[in-house]
Amino acid sequence: MHSDIEIAQSVSPVPIVEVARQAGVDAQHLVLYGTDKAKIDYSLLNAADAHRAKLVLVTAINPTPAGEGKTTTTIGLADGLRRLGRRSAVALREPSLGPVFGVKGGAAGGGYAQVIPMEDINLHFTGDFHAIGAANNLLAAMIDNHVQQGNSLDIDVRRITWKRVVDMNDRQLRKIVDGLGGRPCGTPREDGFDITVASEVMAILCLSVSLSDLKERLGAMVVGWTRAGEPVRARELRAQGAMAALLKDALKPNLVQTLEGTPAFVHGGPFANIAHGCNSIMATRMAMRFGDIAVTEAGFGADLGAEKFFDIKCRMSGLVPDAVVIVATARALKFNGGVAKADLDREDTPALERGLPNLLRHVDNIQRVFGLPCVVAINRFPTDTAAELELIERSCSEHSVRVRLSEVWAKGGAGATELAEEVLRLLEEPAHFRLAYEDGTDVADAIQAVAHKVYRADGVEYSPAASRQLTELRRCGFGELPVCIAKTQYSFTDDQTRLGAPEGFTIFVRELRVCAGAGFIVALTGSVLTMPGLPRVPAAEHIDVDDRGVITGLF
Ligand code: ADP
Ligand code: MG
Repeated sequence: MHSDIEIAQSVSPVPIVEVARQAGVDAQHLVLYGTDKAKIDYSLLNAADAHRAKLVLVTAINPTPAGEGKTTTTIGLADGLRRLGRRSAVALREPSLGPVFGVKGGAAGGGYAQVIPMEDINLHFTGDFHAIGAANNLLAAMIDNHVQQGNSLDIDVRRITWKRVVDMNDRQLRKIVDGLGGRPCGTPREDGFDITVASEVMAILCLSVSLSDLKERLGAMVVGWTRAGEPVRARELRAQGAMAALLKDALKPNLVQTLEGTPAFVHGGPFANIAHGCNSIMATRMAMRFGDIAVTEAGFGADLGAEKFFDIKCRMSGLVPDAVVIVATARALKFNGGVAKADLDREDTPALERGLPNLLRHVDNIQRVFGLPCVVAINRFPTDTAAELELIERSCSEHSVRVRLSEVWAKGGAGATELAEEVLRLLEEPAHFRLAYEDGTDVADAIQAVAHKVYRADGVEYSPAASRQLTELRRCGFGELPVCIAKTQYSFTDDQTRLGAPEGFTIFVRELRVCAGAGFIVALTGSVLTMPGLPRVPAAEHIDVDDRGVITGLF
């Protein structure tokens, strides 16, 4: 078996102008980045279009640390649909450099289901994340400068919540003291960096539908609090115009292609814990405009990713999904059944059976809570045994859960024929899409609704700090924003060791933060890192480039 990068480099991409032409995008709307990448002019989105494409969400059961293959399945399914003669398109997140150089590696799919040029997509791509970092850091500089120049807004320097960012896993910057050096060097204060994908600017870029919407949202961001306890907005520092100017190209969706030439809109990449974890609304809309079936992905498992896709992204954009694919692997089922990470390659049907309730709960959530038809895609790994695959299929059938084997990693679109056929059947079925809570619900009730309906918790508890923040957020008029719950991706609970389908637990909210520009309140449960670190052996140690500029060692 070849590595991901070897497979990706063995395929010559179709000129992107041609991919666009086949999808119906006129070359005049393309901003070319070389021959195999382009940005699409967002003026295209404003043109009225009656075309109503179908929207398929790919999500997953609670994963193993390695990932269950949602991106891989998203790409392979779109290729499979195309092989069946359908006009499909993909919408995906852009990878962050943090994980690329850390443990997880790239995020452009895997095996024979990848988007290309994978090296570029995984590294700087079209520069979007750098632009987001620059816009974020411009605001940070303007805040500290405001304090330095007399602080007419009376910003409490101990309550500046806006952080600088860098797109790197760099724990050294997590907590710092800056502004040292006396009067000419600013005000000494405790500070810290986040990774770029954790910036609210990233979430906003992914939720904006126009430059004016982007600017409005940037201006509404709360960057800190005054000494009297009032929120300070970015617009009070008059930062939103220059920030939007820095982001004018980053806001345009990127067009690339899958290994089989299917158009792929890869754009934006917010965290799936403190943000909503989906590619931009613009990219999804582009995929729906230029395909008859758009396949997209949400981060983490369905309890986090799919819930936020529905309750945040669909709520804000009016997008209505038509069907859901839940990716499951024998590995993740065994993991949920209590098998240690190191032993996942060994056959263990009893453990797999113990893990199945996790999958069934996600299926039930999608169908009953959110009202959407779904199919389970078993993403086949080389280590899966026939007995394990047969057990998953049999158990799903016994519970009247539709299930299809997916072999896109090994075979590309040809490995998704049965899955694609089943998805086409689902798209014929009536969907009754619902959100977990209505617009205008008080944030505590929204948290309760998600915890009760989706996680199956008995209740929600708040730390004393979170209770105070709840009162403050309501007082400032933020109390009815949708909620973005930051929780471990490994469990329905907020405790990552409670795998499977736990019952009899409460969700503990430690802290509440407002993202007034993105338009949600983040409820933090457990500890969530917004600046990761590198592992003992970073993936970066194996990456190289030769004299011709050919990159090796990316995976
Ligand atoms: P997710 O989107 O769920 O995080 P990815 O699609 O990015 O997962 O896949 C995670 C990793 O697992 C990638 O490195 C990919 O190449 C690998 N992978 C995915 N599916 C398979 C498979 N069926 N067999 C082997 N490796 C796979
Ligand atoms: Mg992914």
